Amino acid sequence: MIELTLSRRESPLADAAEQRRILSRGETDPSFDQVLASRGRAPLQARGTEVLQINVGKLCNQACRHCHVDAGPDRREMMSRETAEACLDVLRRSNIPTLDITGGAPEMNPHFRRLVSGARNLGRRVIDRCNLTILMAPGYEYLPDFLAEHQAEIVASLPCYLAENVDRQRGDQVFKRSIAALRRLNSVGYGQPGSPQFLTLVFNPSGPTLPPDQQQLETDYRRELRARYEIEFTRLFTITNLPINRFLDDLIRAGQLDAYLHKLLEAFNPATIKGLMCRTTLSVDWQGNLADCDFNQMLELPLATGQPRNISELNTSQLSLLTGRRIVTGRHCFGCTAGAGSSCQGQLVDNSSITNPTMHEGGRASR
Ligand code: SF4
Ligand code: SF4
Repeated sequence: MIELTLSRRESPLADAAEQRRILSRGETDPSFDQVLASRGRAPLQARGTEVLQINVGKLCNQACRHCHVDAGPDRREMMSRETAEACLDVLRRSNIPTLDITGGAPEMNPHFRRLVSGARNLGRRVIDRCNLTILMAPGYEYLPDFLAEHQAEIVASLPCYLAENVDRQRGDQVFKRSIAALRRLNSVGYGQPGSPQFLTLVFNPSGPTLPPDQQQLETDYRRELRARYEIEFTRLFTITNLPINRFLDDLIRAGQLDAYLHKLLEAFNPATIKGLMCRTTLSVDWQGNLADCDFNQMLELPLATGQPRNISELNTSQLSLLTGRRIVTGRHCFGCTAGAGSSCQGQLVDNSSITNPTMHEGGRASR
């Protein structure tokens, strides 16, 4: 069974303004900025741009239940060649070291190859956020060799080492096809011990819980994937689900939204603030619009007032002004500061800094 996108269902939540309205409802709770201020850490500011993260569109061959993009096979939003070239131009005119390409399934964008090869030719690190199954889809079989040849890093979702848990979250047969894709990646060198071809797996919880300890879970994944499927990978990231798009819809339908938001608030860990990804990321949407992170992008929260709006208008002096900009925040931000913290690079701090250990849920994947 394939999940329908909010857009296809014509859900009110397909409108980002409705999501923002729902998330700002908890008037008796402190705002994210108020909590930061109570720790003497407000306002949240950018430290620089180390990652240009571009979301090249909402088209995806999957339609996972928790998707914060509301991506799926019916979505048609797609970054144009012109906008892709504007992203490469910014890389060329700057020293931003990393291009992080996400979606949807970013490989389905017709300019994906141009982005990977263009950024690699500029000597930049390239990350492909891959759902694995696209590597096995007709017409995309070339991808493992192409990515290996260009030394792109792969960050791939696999929320459990058990088929049932993955298929429940990501769709029928997704686990089986993901395992086949991982074998194919291993065969071209990805994830092999000592290999420079990084293959990072990503865990996110299946429900309204915080992720377990990243290090322990990585040990479990390595043991189980090796024993069951002879699969190797470089490392594991754990990511907290943010209450946006289909995960927000899931929470509302299960009557768990307020409980989840409180859980995130109660698990606030000030040690995570230093490493929040928005402080070093510039996020670009399929139309070139700029945001502090992919989550703000989905909620249609642009950069703060006075900052540039679109990558096409980003000249060299504006790029340097992005450092020190005020980050736009909301209640969803508590998802990044809960427990050991969460980002596109996984957990932000080690467990010893967790101020409320009862909030760190530990244990096995995808319970
Ligand atoms: S979570 Fe990833 S793989 Fe799943 S529908 Fe969203 S973009 Fe596609
Ligand atoms: S959602 Fe997370 S990464 Fe984005 S602005 Fe908020 S704290 Fe920063």
